[in-house]
Amino acid sequence: MAFQKIRVDNPIVEMDGDEMTRVIWKLIKNKLIFPYLELDIKYFDLGLPHRDATNDRVTIESAEATLKYNVAIKCATITPDEARVKEFNLKQMWRSPNGTIRNILNGTVFREPIICKNIPRLVSGWTKPICIGRHAFGDQYRATDIVVKGPGKLKLMFVPNGHGEHKDLEVYNFTGAGGVALSMYNTDEEVFDTQWRHKFKEAGIWYEHRLIDDMVAYALKSDGGYVWACKNYDGDVQSDFLAQGFGSLGLMTSVLVCPDGKTIEAEAAHGTVTRHYRVHQKGGETSTNSIASIFAWSRGLAHRAKLDGNARLLDFTEKLEAACIETVELGKMTKDLALLVHGPKVTRSHYLNTEEFIDAVAEELKTRLSMQAKL
Ligand code: NAP
Ligand code: MG
Repeated sequence: MAFQKIRVDNPIVEMDGDEMTRVIWKLIKNKLIFPYLELDIKYFDLGLPHRDATNDRVTIESAEATLKYNVAIKCATITPDEARVKEFNLKQMWRSPNGTIRNILNGTVFREPIICKNIPRLVSGWTKPICIGRHAFGDQYRATDIVVKGPGKLKLMFVPNGHGEHKDLEVYNFTGAGGVALSMYNTDEEVFDTQWRHKFKEAGIWYEHRLIDDMVAYALKSDGGYVWACKNYDGDVQSDFLAQGFGSLGLMTSVLVCPDGKTIEAEAAHGTVTRHYRVHQKGGETSTNSIASIFAWSRGLAHRAKLDGNARLLDFTEKLEAACIETVELGKMTKDLALLVHGPKVTRSHYLNTEEFIDAVAEELKTRLSMQAKL
């Protein structure tokens, strides 16, 4: 009996991307998504040539559409540098699309490793995921800095709007040849006590504040199983620490959650895997891990399912994720994971190529979905 496609009532925003991940993206849609879902996609091509053709308007429009439809699923994109400006003959060095999108959506980036039992981790004690939340606001990334060229006083001044207290503080008295200084900020919003404390209690979980050095030491000796909320800079550094500790960038998901609690943007944590794409361009065989890109789809669609109360769609996304993990646990994996299992002695028989892996996941998914159809 033919599979009866799952109807998705509300649209999702798709942000297409570049290089190897763009190749993978198309395979994922054709083999894992379109055969099963009746889905209205608002498509935005964030591939670098189209960003250039639209003077980067497309990036802004895709973020605005995300605010409207609440769910975006994003492929990795090139952030141009000087070499890319030459390679693509760009009109200018367009800004990082992720930066542009984050500025419009605001919010917190959550990164979560995907755990497969047979993939060894560098930190072998991490048997449960550690999900990191990075507050993508303020800190060093929005600091104002100066180079001090000689002796003089560095001051921090606050000028209130209205009645507050005027502050004029001396930070440092430079006496020698100078140095550097920066000023950074964050804002206060005490929402935990008012909005979340009782919900945490109901769920049987708790929140506690820890200093970053204490938390890093704790993380290393813990077995995982918690969400680690970080400020912007700490989150940037610690998310790379976690990705490496869990083994592979190909197993790290990334979801930007907006403060409205409704809007998200899901993507893989890794980039466009340029090195593999160069091989692909020359007609060579690649073995690029598509799991984090597939999870961008499953996480985005799972959020759509929750917003719409669509139980069939939610079930589909769970089966899609389980199919990825099961495929790897059956020993069918891409080279990055085979290297973790077999070390430098890895041979071609230990891994699948890019397309073979997606086909293996598609087989596994089909089995899971037809099992359900028979029930
Ligand atoms: P990358 O694309 O993450 O790849 C770095 C290396 O990590 C690869 O060469 C590969 O190692 C390994 N790797 C990453 N993802 C993999 C996967 N799915 N399967 C197998 N191996 C994987 O980072 P990059 O080369 O520094 O950056 C390439 C482009 O991506 C840049 O233009 C950058 O601007 C962009 N970027 C975009 C995003 C985003 O859109 N979120 C994030 C980061 C970077 P081996 O070569 O050893 O196999
Ligand atoms: Mg980083």
